[in-house]
Amino acid sequence: RSGFVAIVGRPNVGKSTLMNHVIGQKIAIMSDKPQTTRNKIHGVYTTADMQIVFLDTPGIHKRQSKLGDFMNQTALNTLGEVEAALFLVDASEGMGGGDRFIAEQLKKVSTPIILVMNKIDKIEPEALLPLIEEYRKLYDFAEIVPISAKMGNNVNRLLEQVEKYL
Ligand code: GDP
Ligand code: MG
Repeated sequence: RSGFVAIVGRPNVGKSTLMNHVIGQKIAIMSDKPQTTRNKIHGVYTTADMQIVFLDTPGIHKRQSKLGDFMNQTALNTLGEVEAALFLVDASEGMGGGDRFIAEQLKKVSTPIILVMNKIDKIEPEALLPLIEEYRKLYDFAEIVPISAKMGNNVNRLLEQVEKYL
C-alpha cells in the first residue's frame, strides 16, 4: 500500500514533532526550511509493505490577504489530491479559532480527515472525552486519534488508521 497524506494544523500543535517521530530527525529538519507557496514533502514513511508520503500544507491557517487566499487555494488543491489528511490539534490548549478556521476549509474537500489530538501527555485523561465531543461538532472526522508526538504515545495506532485510507 502507498499514498499521499497531507498534514494540516495551526502553528505549534506538533506537526514537526510528529514527523520527527515517524520519519526521523533528518528529513523533518529539512522540511522546516523556509518555503514559498509550494507544497512540500515532510517526509516519506516506508515499511516492508507500506509507503506514506507526508505533505505539508502551508498557508491553510493564513487569512486576510491575497497571498493568504492563494496559499489557501494551493493547500486546498493538495487536500483534494491526497488519500487522507491529518488535522493536528493541541489537546492541551483546547479548541481555538485557528482550529475552527481550518475545519471550515476542510469542508471544501471530500478527503477523509483524521483528527489527531496531540499533546495528551499534558492533559488529564478525563478531559479527553469532552474535548473529542467538542471537535466532533466541528466536522465529521473519518477517525479521531489521541497521541503524544513528543512521547510517541499512540503514534503506531495513528499509522494503522492512516493505512486504512491508502
Ligand atoms: P508545529 O509548529 O506544528 O510543527 O509544532 P512543533 O512540532 O514545532 O511543536 C511545537 C512545540 O510543541 C514544541 O515545543 C514541541 O516540543 C511541543 N510538542 C509537540 N508535540 C508535543 C506533545 O505531544 N507533548 C508535549 N508536551 N509537547 C509537544
Ligand atoms: Mg513545524
